[in-house]
Amino acid sequence: MTEKLYISYDHIHKLCQEGAERMKTKFRPDLMVAIGGGGFIPARILRTFLKEPGQKNIPIQAIGLSLYEDLGAEDEANAAETLGAQVVRTQWLDFGTMAQRSVDFIGKTVLIVDEVDDTRTTLHYALSELEKDVREQAERLGRQDEKTTFLIFVLHNKDKPKRAELPEAMMTEDRYVAARTVPDVWIAYPWESRDITEHTKRAVAQGNN
Ligand code: 5GP
Repeated sequence: MTEKLYISYDHIHKLCQEGAERMKTKFRPDLMVAIGGGGFIPARILRTFLKEPGQKNIPIQAIGLSLYEDLGAEDEANAAETLGAQVVRTQWLDFGTMAQRSVDFIGKTVLIVDEVDDTRTTLHYALSELEKDVREQAERLGRQDEKTTFLIFVLHNKDKPKRAELPEAMMTEDRYVAARTVPDVWIAYPWESRDITEHTKRAVAQGNN
């Protein structure tokens, strides 16, 4: 059995291209929310393939989330700042009242991007919190009649029991796109590698180039 799945930059580029083409048959994202750090590079590549000629570049916003169990002792001491049972926000968006500074997702198609859907905890948290923030913002501004649509893209979905679920409609309406569904093994992404030449060799040997 393969212990680790090595993924090359070229492979990631192609997965983003495939995913973008699939998404474009049904949706036209107005903006992206990249979950850092793994969602950053895929989001930037997706933008290349989602952009239509003559259209403006799709803006990318960044959020940061950590799973509680991955935090060090120092962070755990700040338990009061934990907003979900298992997820900690390290960076979020300003949905506040200052129009110039706050983001406006109301009525838009928003694509959430991450590298991997493992236990689904992170994606569930990001989606439900963003939905809540947009709903509250729309109520505040009296714009509840404008429909906001969320989409999700991941490079890899691990085929395993998940700890959290996404709304059923997300799946049935093809608003969730995983470029590949893979077995429950550790995926080695190129941006984590300290020897990219060796990493790429391994990816090529596994056919992930
Ligand atoms: P979740 O369990 O919430 O779906 O995933 C949490 C995070 O764990 C992911 O965003 C990712 O950063 C990390 N993660 C989970 N599985 C893998 C993996 O196989 N490879 C890498 N590089 N990161 C992973």
